[in-house]
Amino acid sequence: MNKAHNLYIHVPFCMSKCNYCAFFSVACANPDWQKYADSICQELRFWSQKLGKIKIPTIFFGGGTPSLMPVSIFEQIVNCINQCFDITDDCEITLESNPGTLDGDKLSGFIQNSVNRLSVGVQSLKDEELKFLGRRHDVRTAVNLLETALEKGLRVNADFIYGLPNQTVKDVIDLCNGINKIGLTHVSMYELTVEKNTPFGKMNLDMPSNEEMAQMYNAIPQYLSLSRYEVSNYAVPGQECRHNMNIWMGEPYIGIGNGAAGRVFYNNVWYEQRGNGEAFEQMSTESRATEKVLTGMRTMRGVNLSTDVKNIIDFDWVNSHKDLVEIDGEYLHTTHSGLLILDDIVADLIK
Ligand code: SF4
Repeated sequence: MNKAHNLYIHVPFCMSKCNYCAFFSVACANPDWQKYADSICQELRFWSQKLGKIKIPTIFFGGGTPSLMPVSIFEQIVNCINQCFDITDDCEITLESNPGTLDGDKLSGFIQNSVNRLSVGVQSLKDEELKFLGRRHDVRTAVNLLETALEKGLRVNADFIYGLPNQTVKDVIDLCNGINKIGLTHVSMYELTVEKNTPFGKMNLDMPSNEEMAQMYNAIPQYLSLSRYEVSNYAVPGQECRHNMNIWMGEPYIGIGNGAAGRVFYNNVWYEQRGNGEAFEQMSTESRATEKVLTGMRTMRGVNLSTDVKNIIDFDWVNSHKDLVEIDGEYLHTTHSGLLILDDIVADLIK
């Protein structure tokens, strides 16, 4: 039997494009959902034939805006996953959502079909910032959705963006205090990055300096009542996103849907996977180990020093940079000062 794989399903539709968004998604409020479900199910069957009825410990519906999907379409896809694979009893099933696309009744429909974790794109607790970002909702709608999801007993994440033009450290502290009042157990805090092919990329935005960004980043764990467990992710210990942690720790995953990619482990070989097997390329042990270092070092736990990883690490460099990296049991991780120059560290510690 092949190894358990995590499952990522991409839903590439949004009501409209946000000003900063470089994700693979198209503005289309009423896509042909049946056609979408059929193509997802076709890919699921392809992988089931290749890998067998493997265990699925996590499923993540990401986007785009998966909460736009009718519940009946979601049900078809979950039924198909059930037929193709062995969904574990404690499988974490996350649905990404945007405020304004999901009310309490629709959320109950998703829960009836096994969703147990909701991720909400909140982005800001100020209406004028939401407008600037090109979001379609206001703060009240977003907080209502978080409260409804918490009342229904879901594990809930909220995404936020900081480092907007003219934002100060004080604004970020206010944001953290506002988030604390909601009572979430998981939050993602992303620095605004201006990507070329977005509306923001065509504006001449007056962004905070690198030093200001670093001050904001350092303020977050001081004021947010959650622990940082990855560069941009914070949680009550035990409430980390299992899907992402599995992937960052180097576990295999299948990416389903347009624009999704995966890392499949099949007959003891790693493959880079995109779509339904059209792009299915063997990876060398070294290149897969390099990816494990890249993602593992982003987590506070660090990268597991398995044999493949040990083989590509420059331990002379590690031993002479104890201010930046530390070995803790079976894991190599950054120190606090190392975290701020993570990209440089990763480049240096690989042989
Ligand atoms: S809702 Fe999310 S995926 Fe859709 S355009 Fe906005 S940021 Fe991009």
